[in-house]
Amino acid sequence: MSLDRADQLARRLGEVRARIARACAAAGRADDVTLVVVTKYFPASDVRLLADLGVRDVGENRHQEAEAKVADCAGLDLRWHFIGALQSNKAAAVAAYADLVESLDRTKLVAALDRGASQRGRPLDVLLQVSLDPPGSEHRAGVDPADLAALADAVAATSSLRLRGLMAVAPLGEEPAGAFARLAEIRAGLVLRHPQATWLSAGMSGDLEEAVAAGATHVRVGSAILGSRPAVQ
Ligand SMILES: *Cc1c(COP(=O)(O)O)cnc(C)c1O
Repeated sequence: MSLDRADQLARRLGEVRARIARACAAAGRADDVTLVVVTKYFPASDVRLLADLGVRDVGENRHQEAEAKVADCAGLDLRWHFIGALQSNKAAAVAAYADLVESLDRTKLVAALDRGASQRGRPLDVLLQVSLDPPGSEHRAGVDPADLAALADAVAATSSLRLRGLMAVAPLGEEPAGAFARLAEIRAGLVLRHPQATWLSAGMSGDLEEAVAAGATHVRVGSAILGSRPAVQ
């Protein structure tokens, strides 16, 4: 059973790595994109199999599930990315185990994350999640691009958070290439103000090629490797 699962994960992981390599070649880029495997809803046993297959970066989007899985996987050489909606009363707890928080999207979270990072005694890398939805639409998540500079400045002013760059999800109902082109422009503006904030986390199972073409340094891939998640989320 677990051997079958290992074979399946190995095969799908190989397919996704090949897709990333082809996308980098097509964009004339070096193949230096970090693959973050999104393991939400899947058990810690899958994370162990993925670690055996050379996966180093894993993504989780719910605090309780992430906290339990990190504890289950203690001793593995993994970097945990928190990619989900953050509540301000959970932010310090997330900072206790996350290596990178990709979903910082409002000023209210900054102080709590900074406090959590300072309590654990090592700096916390963060990405700012920016909304790519057209202005006025129901935002799925993410800071409005107009408010990004203020949020970035707030993070840069902390002692324990390291501003690394941006994260975004392509909006529903739009070609991802157009959304990621806007993201590339937003990123250029951020890097002018914060030259070290060069990371760009964009692209999922369905649109990683478009994200790599637009300069993604990190892609977050779940279902193309682990399979479809349970319908109730
Ligand atoms: C679940 C999730 C992903 C992975 O999505 P797939 O389509 O399964 O690859 C990527 N990013 C975020 C923020 C997610 O919540």
